[in-house]
Amino acid sequence: MRATILYGPTDVRSETIDDPQIERPTDAIIRLSATCVCGSDLWNYRGIQDTPQPTPFGHEYCGIVEEVGSEVRNIKPGQFVIGSFFASDNTCPNCEAGYQSSCVHRELVRGAQAELMRVPLADGTLVATPEVPDAKYIPSLLAASDVLGTGWFAAVAANVQPGQTVAVVGDGAVGLLGVLSAAQLGATRIIAMSRHESRQKLAQEFGATDIVAERGDDGVASIKEMTGGIGADAVLECVGTSDSMQQAIGSIRPGGFIGYVGVPHGVNVDFQQTFFAHAGLLGGPAPVRRFLPDLIDLILHDKIDPGKVFDLELPLDQVAEGYAAMDERRAIKTLLRP
Ligand SMILES: [Zn+2]
Repeated sequence: MRATILYGPTDVRSETIDDPQIERPTDAIIRLSATCVCGSDLWNYRGIQDTPQPTPFGHEYCGIVEEVGSEVRNIKPGQFVIGSFFASDNTCPNCEAGYQSSCVHRELVRGAQAELMRVPLADGTLVATPEVPDAKYIPSLLAASDVLGTGWFAAVAANVQPGQTVAVVGDGAVGLLGVLSAAQLGATRIIAMSRHESRQKLAQEFGATDIVAERGDDGVASIKEMTGGIGADAVLECVGTSDSMQQAIGSIRPGGFIGYVGVPHGVNVDFQQTFFAHAGLLGGPAPVRRFLPDLIDLILHDKIDPGKVFDLELPLDQVAEGYAAMDERRAIKTLLRP
């Protein structure tokens, strides 16, 4: 099958490798309907995070089940399924509490930028749609696999409530879908922090009411000015740098919550400032599995259209261009068709 292998900084290749096999009786093999490049893949692509050996890449997926192991009970060949980047049993105490990305049996799912992939703990990890969906829903269902689920978690972790003012730090796919999530959860004022015109436009389509293009102290000053000097009720931090965390802490009102889902890279936060800000903090790798059934339902009932974040679509073999376009910020998010 064709698969995507990352060799090192800016060296990503489409290669023919062996088809994946059932390795454990709880595995499933799925044939990808679509896959995509994640903003977090760029940390490795840029060499900020090391890739010590050639590694099959990709962790966002949806597709048709080809084969299941002997202990898989609920997932069946022929079903259309969506899963998340952490495989989870969905039965342990952490899963029961809604933190499937901390499942005691969790396993990173890798190798999704391919024709076929192996998904561990299939019964716990995968969610099947009621029937094989119309092709028009595929981009949105794929978005649910990671970026929508992660943006949604940011909004839930930030305790977004109807009528609130929400600030979103970061205009990547997760930030943009954080805007959509905050709108769905009833926020009435949503301030998207973005300097890029095409992203500002999409943020507005997803429900942003205000745009702040300034960053750093100026960005914080703008949020304060727009909220009568108080700050936003909730802040979604969707980047993972010191600057973005600082922006989030500076923008929150006392007693407000920050949902932080940007994978931290060298974040150095002034904890004294956090202490005196009365900032509530909840974040981490999103338990996407918790939200998948509801998100799938919203998509298939045409309530949300998160697939709009894909502004570049390529055949799987052109994956290198897909990475380059995102790296150079020519594309927000690349969808790949195997
Ligand atoms: Zn679990």
